[in-house]
Amino acid sequence: MALEKLLGQDRARKILKGHLEKARYHHAYLFHGPAGVGKSTAAREFAHSIFCEEISQGYCGKCVSCHQFLTGNHPDYQEIEVEDRTIKIDVIRELRRSLTLKPFKSLYRIFVIRQAEKFTREAANSFLKSLEEPPSYVIFILTSDNRKLLLPTIISRSFPVAFNYLGKNIIESYLESKIEDRQKRKVLSEISGGSLGFACQLAEDDNFLEQRKELISLWSKMDRKSFLEVFNLVQWVEKEWNGDYVQFFQLLQYWLRDLFYWKNGQKQVILNRDCADLLQEEGPLWKTEDLEKALNLLDDLQRGFDRKINRRLALEATLLKINGWRQ
Ligand SMILES: [Zn+2]
Repeated sequence: MALEKLLGQDRARKILKGHLEKARYHHAYLFHGPAGVGKSTAAREFAHSIFCEEISQGYCGKCVSCHQFLTGNHPDYQEIEVEDRTIKIDVIRELRRSLTLKPFKSLYRIFVIRQAEKFTREAANSFLKSLEEPPSYVIFILTSDNRKLLLPTIISRSFPVAFNYLGKNIIESYLESKIEDRQKRKVLSEISGGSLGFACQLAEDDNFLEQRKELISLWSKMDRKSFLEVFNLVQWVEKEWNGDYVQFFQLLQYWLRDLFYWKNGQKQVILNRDCADLLQEEGPLWKTEDLEKALNLLDDLQRGFDRKINRRLALEATLLKINGWRQ
C-alpha cells in the first residue's frame, strides 16, 4: 500500500496514489493543513514511492533506491528546513544553483521544503523563479501549516493537497504502542486537538499532564480584578515551558471551550474531564457570550502572534481583558 505510514488523511492519500499510479507528477506540490497531522511524513513517503525501482504504487524497501532512501543517502533527494525561524535567501540560492544537475540515480530530483511559509521575502521571490521554469526532472514538495502566509504566486504554481485534523480514535489507537495507561491515552488524544505531532510531543513529556492541571488551577482561581495574577500566569509559562505560548494558547482555548460546554450541559464533549471540580467552581463565574468573546479574542491574537513585536505584552493585554469578563 502506498503512503502506509500516513494515518488518516484519506483524501490526500487518494490524490497522491493517483499520481503514483499514473507516474505523472506536478513540478510542485503544496501539502497544507494544521501542524502535526502528517504532511512531512506524506512528503517523505511520496518521494520514497516515486524513487522505488520495483513497485509503482509504494515502495519495496529492498531495492537500491529504497535502501539509499531509508538510510538517508538518496542522491536525488533533499529536505530543506527552517533555521533560526526562517528559510533564508542563501539556502534558496544554493538550491537554485544545484538545479542544473541532472538526477544521479532516479528519473527525478525531489526537494521537500518544510514550513514554506517561513521563507523570507527575498527567498520566496528567488524560489518563485525556479517554480516558473523548473527543469523537467525536478519535483518540489512544499509543506505549510499556514498557507495564507505564502506568496499567492507560489500557491498558484503548486498543486494543492489538503491535510485535515485527525480523529480522536486515530490518535488514541496510535498512542497504544507508546502509552499503557488507557485513561492517559484518552486525555492526550482529546487534548491534542487532532494533531498527532502534538499528541506525541505530549506523550513524551511525563510532566505535561500535571503541568496542565497546575495551569488550569492557576487560571481558575484568578481574581477578576487582579493584574498581578495575570502577570504571574504568564511568568509561569515563561518559567515552566520556556515561553511556549502556542502550547499555552491551546490549553487555555480548550479550557474556555470546556467551560462553555459545561454551561450548556454538553458534558460529553468536555476535554479536561479530570478537572471537573474546577469546571464546577469556575463555570458559574462566566456568561456564555463572554466565553465566546474570549475564544474569538484568543483566536485573533494567535493568528497574528508571530508578527507581534512584543509577544509577551500582547498576551498579557489580552489575558487582562478576558480575565476582567469574569463575574
Ligand atoms: Zn524499492
